[in-house]
Amino acid sequence: MKGNVTIIGAGIAGLATARALTMRGWKVDVRESALALPAAGTALGMWPEALKALDAIGAGDAVRRSGSRMEASADTGLRTPAGRTLVSMSGGSNLLMIARPRLLEILADGVDVTFGAEVANPGDFSGSDVVVGADGTFSRTRLALFGESSSPRSLGVVAWRGTVAGAVVSHGETWAPGAMFGLTPAGPDATNWYACLKAGGRFEPPHLQHLRDLFGSWRTGPAEVLRHVKEADILHHELFELPRMPSYVSGRVVLVGDAAHSMGPFLGRGACEALVDGVTLGRCLGEATSVTEGLAAYDHARRAKTQRLIAMSRLMGRTAMMPHGFRERNALLGAVGSVMRTAESLRHGLRR
Ligand SMILES: Cc1cc2nc3c(=O)[nH]c(=O)nc-3n(C[C@H](O)[C@H](O)[C@H](O)COP(=O)(O)OP(=O)(O)OC[C@H]3O[C@@H](n4cnc5c(N)ncnc54)[C@H](O)[C@@H]3O)c2cc1C
Repeated sequence: MKGNVTIIGAGIAGLATARALTMRGWKVDVRESALALPAAGTALGMWPEALKALDAIGAGDAVRRSGSRMEASADTGLRTPAGRTLVSMSGGSNLLMIARPRLLEILADGVDVTFGAEVANPGDFSGSDVVVGADGTFSRTRLALFGESSSPRSLGVVAWRGTVAGAVVSHGETWAPGAMFGLTPAGPDATNWYACLKAGGRFEPPHLQHLRDLFGSWRTGPAEVLRHVKEADILHHELFELPRMPSYVSGRVVLVGDAAHSMGPFLGRGACEALVDGVTLGRCLGEATSVTEGLAAYDHARRAKTQRLIAMSRLMGRTAMMPHGFRERNALLGAVGSVMRTAESLRHGLRR
């Protein structure tokens, strides 16, 4: 079927949905509260499923051209602050890293967005066949439909992140009790860094000295990267996730992206799932004979899967920063890593 749709929010989810529905012949109206797309931001990892979704909306090639593969060197992987490798990723990675502003720019190409248009009430769009809430973790659309019980809850973790010029060779994460530090490429000549700490709430700036005190002695690269970080470029957030939603649909209103399933960043999947949401919603509505049928198909395709990812991401964060039992965890990871390496070399041997 075809119809007209109002999309609230021009983030990754809203823009992917706009492209998917436009391709299916829908008339699309996108409202974004910000005055423009963001000019700054850090890198996001795109998993193969997200690249498939980008291909489906005609953006895959541009993303591949603008992104860079997370190439693995011998010491890429999970490590301890003392530099011991827990799991090596020397076999390579399927992850394509792309800067968030560039991804948004590619997605917005050809989409007509009304900027500076904050939507207070999703019920205002009585002329639309479908209203899409793509308004992020603190979605007013979700609040209007499902009330206070759908509010995000704090994970008790804060994050800092940023990008510095210059490529760093040892990508991967360092796990310590209550804290972690990660490095990924952010293009051919830039490095994306992020740090997480278990904490009761956000810290006041300045952040840089605090970060150096926390991570400067780790032997896995933080000190080298933090030397190049500028205080003004540091992004700092408290991390949240959503409770299990009873539905992503209410009447003709539907939630996509973080508005539906905001999760901790520990699997690097939120933006990828936002892309898959947009493509799935486009397909479900395009193939349905009514809005009710199309939205029910979307809810069925996406809710259970994304809710599992929220739980898995929480578990990953807890495992990475576990305060007790980390010696046993490290031993287990070491054993798993060595089994994986053996299997890999056997596969290699068989191929020759
Ligand atoms: C530290 C960190 C690292 C991450 N790393 C990764 C990663 O490597 N890979 C990955 O896949 N994901 C990652 N994510 C997750 C990813 O950033 C999010 O899942 C993704 O940005 C969600 O996109 P969205 O469009 O749903 O929401 P948002 O990006 O929040 O977009 C919502 C949009 O709606 C607009 N809006 C809000 N309210 C209104 C309103 N009332 N009216 C109109 N407009 C409104 C906002 O201005 C915004 O533009 C990370 C997240 C964090 C915090």
